[in-house]
Amino acid sequence: MIDFTQIHINKLPTVLIMGRPNVGKSALFNRLIRRREALVYNTPTDHVTRDIREGVAKLGNLRFRVLDSAGIEAEASSGSVLRRTAEMTRNVLSRTQLALLLVDARDGVLPMDLDVGKWLRKNAPGMKTIVVMNKAESLDDCDGTLAAAAGEAYNLGFGDPIALSAETGLGMAELHETLRPLLEEYVVQNNLCDDDIQENDENDSSEDMECKLPLQLAIVGRPNVGKSTLLNTILQEDRVLVGPEAGLTRDSIRAEFQYEGRTVYLVDTAGWLERTKQQEKGPASLSIMQTRKHLMRAHVIVLVLDAEEIAKDRRSMKHVEVVIARRAVEEGRGLVVIVNKMDLLRGKENSKFYKSVIEAVPQEIQTVIPQVTGIPVVFVSALEGKSQIAVMNQVIETYEKWCLRLPTARLNRWLRKVMSRHSWKDQAAQPKIKYFTQVKARPPTFIAFMSGKTQLSDTDFRFLTRSLKEDFDLGGIPVRILQRTVE
Ligand code: GDP
Ligand code: GDP
Repeated sequence: MIDFTQIHINKLPTVLIMGRPNVGKSALFNRLIRRREALVYNTPTDHVTRDIREGVAKLGNLRFRVLDSAGIEAEASSGSVLRRTAEMTRNVLSRTQLALLLVDARDGVLPMDLDVGKWLRKNAPGMKTIVVMNKAESLDDCDGTLAAAAGEAYNLGFGDPIALSAETGLGMAELHETLRPLLEEYVVQNNLCDDDIQENDENDSSEDMECKLPLQLAIVGRPNVGKSTLLNTILQEDRVLVGPEAGLTRDSIRAEFQYEGRTVYLVDTAGWLERTKQQEKGPASLSIMQTRKHLMRAHVIVLVLDAEEIAKDRRSMKHVEVVIARRAVEEGRGLVVIVNKMDLLRGKENSKFYKSVIEAVPQEIQTVIPQVTGIPVVFVSALEGKSQIAVMNQVIETYEKWCLRLPTARLNRWLRKVMSRHSWKDQAAQPKIKYFTQVKARPPTFIAFMSGKTQLSDTDFRFLTRSLKEDFDLGGIPVRILQRTVE
């Protein structure tokens, strides 16, 4: 991992905050630099002194230089803002690696936002730009307002937007997740890796910090498997309607709770299955996108199965459950499988039904998701209070693994060890990995820097993934390995 705290300030990557007036550029700038000093440059343009502020941003364990272009437009009328912004901003574009294009999530995309986008494209072609939908704290993904705003923001043409609130801090974790790989790539490309960055102290608390970010949890499953009952047990209050009829769960549930000092957000869970069902029947539609979007939002997905049905059908997972589980893993989410209603099998521990439940579920999961070994399966009865502890402990464990960050020094020591302990067919078969680094967590993603034109084979990928999982206890987590060539 690249430790940004060790990079000399002059070498820090630079991020420029752009956007029409009043979208909240200064608010975001202030949040990023917190209470640290900002430098103010007076930039005379048009005989009027305008300011650009510069500060060192700290976002989780990321550090970068941030420029706020807000001051320069303070006195300009809307028509001339862009021109004036342009004059000043061009000067700083040459030393900027990344732009955040802010829009107001509540207003949607206005013509002036489009102009700023066009301007960036023209004056900084190829510069990575991230659209940030600010003031998103009041928008909801349940009533569709967030999705509508995201759709508009996407149309600016810079890829997936991030929703956040500079005022409340909502969404800063997503900003962090998006910026990290981009900033790390800059550092690697500029060869700052070896000399300028000292590798992380292995007792660094930065990984703890990331894990302390609110956990977004989704509870999914077919109707009547006991999702609401489980949710109630977890929340320990009757916030969710429970009943015997299928589909009684309200369409969307949003709840926030504390578990052992950690904030957990429950993301919309019900309505899921309906969408998944439609998707199985119909052509690609909005439902697929929504399903994906919800998966993308959750950090950990709890898939609930019904023990009684499994015992009855002698089949552990229905097609729709397989679809959900596979998608969760493909999207890089942490997956926890819960087999609920175990109380109904009490007293039948010696029966083949019981055995079929206990043995078949983990086996089938392994069969349908061969790429991730060790996905946790927890057997509970949601009607019983202690199930909360079993489920939440597993959720937290999965989340912590999902957030894990391994320092580059440690990874490379590990790499040397696994390479030497593996017996290669011949010297030529051994992959020539120069070094290995973790580019991001959530889920853990690594880059193998290959020397010359060598490439990792599928077997090498499998070998490295398996070794990483065994040696760093990453079982059940979708681990990703990428490769890059270095001369
Ligand atoms: P700038 O002109 O782009 O620098 O915008 P400012 O940072 O000055 O913010 C403009 C207005 O929007 C101010 O009244 C801020 O308090 C408000 N604002 C900024 N961020 C947020 C936010 O996340 N939510 C809400 N509701 N208001 C915000
Ligand atoms: P949902 O549709 O997945 O939200 O399922 P519900 O939570 O509404 O539960 C459906 C039915 O299963 C209700 O009658 C619950 O009382 C019952 N149920 C849920 N969990 C358990 C459990 O652990 N054991 C038993 N015996 N019944 C359960």
